[in-house]
Amino acid sequence: MIDFEYSQLPARVVFGFGTIARIPDEVKTLGCRRVLVLCGPRYAPGVIHRLGDIAVGVSVEAAMHTPVEITDRVMAQVREAKADCLLSLGGGSTIGLGKALALRTDLPQIVVPTTYAGSEATPILGQTEHGRKTTIRSPKVLPETIVYDVELTMTLPARLSVVSGINAIAHAVEALYAKDANPITSTLAAEAISRIGHALPRIVAQPNDRDARADALFGAWACGNCLGTVGMSLHHKLCHTLGGSFDLPHAETHTVILPHVVAFNAPAAPQAIGRVARALGVDGAAAGLFDLAASLGAPTALKSIGMSERDLDKAADLAVSTPYWNPQQIERSAIRALLDHAFHGRRPSD
Ligand code: NAD
Repeated sequence: MIDFEYSQLPARVVFGFGTIARIPDEVKTLGCRRVLVLCGPRYAPGVIHRLGDIAVGVSVEAAMHTPVEITDRVMAQVREAKADCLLSLGGGSTIGLGKALALRTDLPQIVVPTTYAGSEATPILGQTEHGRKTTIRSPKVLPETIVYDVELTMTLPARLSVVSGINAIAHAVEALYAKDANPITSTLAAEAISRIGHALPRIVAQPNDRDARADALFGAWACGNCLGTVGMSLHHKLCHTLGGSFDLPHAETHTVILPHVVAFNAPAAPQAIGRVARALGVDGAAAGLFDLAASLGAPTALKSIGMSERDLDKAADLAVSTPYWNPQQIERSAIRALLDHAFHGRRPSD
């Protein structure tokens, strides 16, 4: 056992099937009475009905990468409604809007995630303004209460479940080789990779497999917790660059890039990468992650998710423009080669 430091994130977790019925009690537990609801249009009528007159407003405006213009508009709604609590029900985009409002108001948040992105468990917020994505870390944006209702994830289409699940696995993979890795986060990371890695094929085979859905959602919490407690490296920086500067879809980008970053980092972090392989039950982590995506019909090439080949040089420049810690030393030529492999969707060898 090596020396380590670990800070526990203060958040309450309620997990199960049908747990949205408990939201009114959770609002009371926070001492709140006026809830502004953020959700997709499909959920709005049900949530408003459930909350009765403690729902003082609803916004269905959330968008990918939390555009500041939308946050500003919904801020006006928060003030007019005199909301004392934010309820975000949806994927990472909806949760991002709630976090952006919490940053500006310090209102308590109850968050009900319907994908596996993991944002609900982190004090991190990414926002976009004038086409630039910036990330901040603040205790103000960490939700007070997370209500996981597995029932709500039963409708997540199989394809979206796979890319969202691999997006979650990416948090756990980078946690295992983080500079500030610690035995608590690493234990959670290995368990999370195993749960999601084994759940995804079951979800694709049978989207209403309740046990598989519960495993995936529990794994999503664990992966989000990893993302919130230790630092991320090359994979997250690359995906941030590709998503923010070239408008690529978030979860799909993570799915395509992850096997290539794992192959790149493996020589410098053999123990961590070995643990990823064991958690997945495969011989090699990089090829195993590629095969998981490919066998479940997820994208494996940047060219198939909207990346243009002529932007690869610019992406490599951006990726090396600000230095950050990574287990393997980062050089532009190696990143350019990695992007080329990812662009063409070549299966990495371990
Ligand atoms: P998303 O929230 O945009 O959702 C993707 C699509 O899935 C949407 O069309 C949505 O309507 C649909 N959907 C969501 N749940 C569904 C369900 N149960 N059934 C059917 N359809 C459903 O995408 P996402 O991948 O969840 O989140 C991506 C965003 O989250 C990005 O902006 C990313 O930057 C952010 N994020 C932030 C953090 C953080 O810690 N700050 C972590 C992960 C992701």
